[in-house]
Amino acid sequence: MSLKLFNTLSGKPESFKPLDDKTVRIYSCGPTVYDVPHIGNFRAFLFFDLVKRYLRFLGYEVNHVMNITDIDDKIIARCGEEGKSLSELTNEYRAAFEKDAVSLRIDLPDTLPAATDHIDDMIDLIKQLIDKDYAYLTDDGSVFFKIGSFPNYGRLSNIDTSQLSSTERVTDDEYGKENPQDFALWKAWKEEDGEIEWESPWGRGRPGWHIECSAMSMKYLGEEFDIHCGGVDLIFPHHENEIAQSVCATDKLFVNFWLHCEHLLVNGAKMSKSLQNFYTITDLINRGYTASAIRYLLTSSHYRHKVDLTEEHLLAASQAVNRFQDFRRRLEKLATSSSRHEADLPVLDEFRKAMNNDLNIAKAMGKVFDWIREVNRKIDSNELTTEEAGSFIEVLDKIDSVIAVVSDDKPEITDEEATMIDEREKARQEKNWSRADEIRDYFRSRGFELEDTPDGTILKRSKEGSDKL
Ligand code: AMP
Ligand code: ZN
Repeated sequence: MSLKLFNTLSGKPESFKPLDDKTVRIYSCGPTVYDVPHIGNFRAFLFFDLVKRYLRFLGYEVNHVMNITDIDDKIIARCGEEGKSLSELTNEYRAAFEKDAVSLRIDLPDTLPAATDHIDDMIDLIKQLIDKDYAYLTDDGSVFFKIGSFPNYGRLSNIDTSQLSSTERVTDDEYGKENPQDFALWKAWKEEDGEIEWESPWGRGRPGWHIECSAMSMKYLGEEFDIHCGGVDLIFPHHENEIAQSVCATDKLFVNFWLHCEHLLVNGAKMSKSLQNFYTITDLINRGYTASAIRYLLTSSHYRHKVDLTEEHLLAASQAVNRFQDFRRRLEKLATSSSRHEADLPVLDEFRKAMNNDLNIAKAMGKVFDWIREVNRKIDSNELTTEEAGSFIEVLDKIDSVIAVVSDDKPEITDEEATMIDEREKARQEKNWSRADEIRDYFRSRGFELEDTPDGTILKRSKEGSDKL
C-alpha cells in the first residue's frame, strides 16, 4: 500500500508521490519570533518533523524549508515594550526556538530563511502581481491583493467570500481598499513602526505576512512543490492568501498537498499566548517531564485530532517512553556488536501499513507495543537469542528514526559532575558509603537518580513527572 495523505485542498486522502519522483519538497510555516514558542506551537513543528522523518523512512530524500517570521505587528510592539532593536529581539527568540527544537530532537529544516533577508524577493513578487492587475496601490503607499480577481479564492478553506465581505470590519489604516476582504501585500510606514522600514517602489514600509511565505517557498523550492504544512488556524486566511498570490503570479499549481495539524488544547481551549494558557518546553522540563515524553505526547495522537494537555496524558507519555527505553536497554544487554544486523520483521510492515494510512501513528504505536510485550516475554523466559536481540535493536532504531523518543534523554552535566560520578564509583568500591551517598544526594537535589547497573552507573531523571501542571 502506498502512502496516503489527507489533502486539505481536495478534502480527502490521496496517494502521495513526489512531483519529481525522488526528492520531496516541503515548506512549513515557522515561528513568529517575538517570544519563546509554547508547546502548542511545537505540536505543529513536531508534526512537520514527523512527516519529514516518515518520508525518509520510506526512502525519499526530503528538502525542507521553514520560514522565520521576524517582522510583523506583534514583533514591532514587543520591540517597543522591551526597548530592543528588531534584530536584537528576533535573534534572541530565534535562538530560543532552535534550542527547544533541538532538545525535542526536531531535525532542523535544510533552510530556515528569515523574512527580513528576503524583502527584495517579496517586492519582486508584488511587482508581478501589480503588473498582472491582481494587486493595486492605495493613496498612502500600501499595496493590496484583489481577491475578486482570483476565481479560486476560498477553495482551500471552503469559504464563501461573498458572505465574509459583508461582515468584515475595515481597520482604520486600511481605508482605500477596493474590497474589505482584499489583503495587504505591502504596508506603508506608520508612526508606530519607528525605525522599522524598508524602501520600495511604493515608498517606505514593510511587507504583509502572507507574501513572505509565497516568496520564500518558491525561491527555495521552485514555483511548484510537493507539500505545504501548518496548523489548522493557518488555512484561512494565510494559506488561502498564499495560494492566491503564488498562482496569480506564476499561473502554476504552487502546492500539490496541503497538510494541516489540529491544535493542542488546555482545558478544551486552544493553547495560545493570547489566552495565557500556555506552557513552554522549559516549564514542563522543570516539572520533571523529559523532552522525549513531551515529544511523544505531542506526536503520538493522530495529527488531525485535537490533543488535550493534561497531567494524565503527560504521565502516560512518560510511561510509554520509559517502556521503549527499558526495552532497548534489555536488548542491548543481550546483543553483541556482531549480532547487529538489519531485519525485516512483521512489526515493521505493520508500522508502515498504519503510517501509510494518513500517518495513523496511534495504530502504529499499538502494533509496536504488542511486539515489545511479546519480546519482553521471551526475554523473561531466557528464550531470546543474541542474534534476535541484535536484529531487534536495529528494527527498534528504524522505528525510532521516525518517532525519535527511544534513545535515552541524556541529561546535560558539567565536566565536574561527570568526575563526581566516577568519584562515587570509586567511593563505593572503597566502601566509603558516606561520600557515595553525599554525591547521590547532590544529584537527587538536581532531579537526577544514579542507577547502578552491571555496565556502570546510569544517570536518569528521578521523576516521571509528578508536579502539578
Ligand atoms: P506562530 O509562531 O504563532 O506563527 O505559529 C507557529 C505555528 O504554530 C503555526 O503553524 C500555528 O498553526 C501553530 N500553532 C499555534 N498554536 C497552536 C496550538 N495550540 N496547537 C497546535 N499548533 C499551534
Ligand atoms: Zn506561512
